[in-house]
Amino acid sequence: ETMEMKYSELAELDKKHFFHPTTSFKQQQAQGPKFIFTEGKGIYLKDVRGKTVIDGLSSLWNVNIGHGREELGIAAMKQMKQLAFSSTFATNSHERVIELAEKVAKMAPGDLNMTFFTSGGSEANDTAFKTVRHYWQLKGKTAKKKIITRNKSYHGVSMGASSATGLPAFRAFPSLAPDFLYVDSSIEDLERLIAEEGADTIAAFVSEPVQGSGGVNPPPEDYFKKIRALCDRHDILFIADEVITGFGRTGTTFGMNNYDTVPDIMVIAKGITSGYAPLGGMVISEKLKNELIELSDGVFMHGYTYSGHPMCCAVALENLRIIEDEKLIENVQNMGDEFQKGFKWLADKHDVISDTRGIGLLGAVEIMKDKETKTRFDEPVSVKVIEEALNHGLLGRSIIYEGQDTLAFAPPFCINKEEVETVISIIDKSMTTVL
Ligand code: PLP
Repeated sequence: ETMEMKYSELAELDKKHFFHPTTSFKQQQAQGPKFIFTEGKGIYLKDVRGKTVIDGLSSLWNVNIGHGREELGIAAMKQMKQLAFSSTFATNSHERVIELAEKVAKMAPGDLNMTFFTSGGSEANDTAFKTVRHYWQLKGKTAKKKIITRNKSYHGVSMGASSATGLPAFRAFPSLAPDFLYVDSSIEDLERLIAEEGADTIAAFVSEPVQGSGGVNPPPEDYFKKIRALCDRHDILFIADEVITGFGRTGTTFGMNNYDTVPDIMVIAKGITSGYAPLGGMVISEKLKNELIELSDGVFMHGYTYSGHPMCCAVALENLRIIEDEKLIENVQNMGDEFQKGFKWLADKHDVISDTRGIGLLGAVEIMKDKETKTRFDEPVSVKVIEEALNHGLLGRSIIYEGQDTLAFAPPFCINKEEVETVISIIDKSMTTVL
């Protein structure tokens, strides 16, 4: 009774005052918030009406170590007491940002060694896009400004990042940033595009190691090796957007480790703090760093007030310590195997599953009415399956962009075998009920 009252009061205020991200205004006004979460522990979230659900997507594929880790709060408080904020502009610095930049360099593949910090993934992508254009300007190759991105990619919602996003719905705004080109995921298409446009007009190619919001799409195994060779051949910088895949999600420290490829620039966010504080960044190679030092006489006019926020850096350091000390990436490998096996089991059982995709604790199920003839349901059914799963206590995501009908899951790294089995059995039950 009192829980319901508390919910109603808050729901009214939510509708009145809170402008939700990526939401239908009409739906928000008609339905109000589905959940008003109040606490989290491990893989579980609890809401104001007392319902507990499994956070099957680690919230926004970001709460990787799981909810409720007090150590991160303590690290934040300690830092705030000691030095809540100080600027990193120009030659100012502070201890935590230096420690974190060193830590990221140690973890990152190849010679990726120097980090520019932001508050999230979109800002980090914008930073990368400006950096590559700045670089080519310094080199005197001013025509090299186009950025090639893949269809079904997601890179964020700032002007640059939404322009780079290969899901047209995110680009349905007038006058986004110019000079972005979209390709399908075949090397031949990319080669053709480069030939048509001229390599001397192309600054960079950007890709997620495994596309997330576009439906969880791992590339063919040799894709990035070919991309790396193609970029080298044409003097094109390669940006890997590791916002979802970075810091363990795929069972390796970075997504690119799975493909033995080192990009020139790596974009990071989400998992660096497991969502306990907003932080992102761009990591550049030693080679690029040295060239920038050599070529540049002026100031790189780019920096956010919160570039290298001390509290966020302290939280990131503690989060990365936990991932290492508790061997959470090993758990992603082990539980990832169980999780992917579970998807295969679902596919054997349910005729409507046309495909399962994934790596580590990142996975998706594709649904079709008839997989032999590749016929879709008239209305996507994944939305209903996800709703039904919620009734059984599992939060996931349905992806219906570009005619897809996909269920996506990415549970926290601390999940155990029994909990993986629960996740799979809820998906199973929900599909049986809906279809
Ligand atoms: N890049 C990728 C691959 C993402 O998945 C996201 C967010 O989901 C972003 C960039 C944008 O990050 P943010 O929402 O922190 O700006």
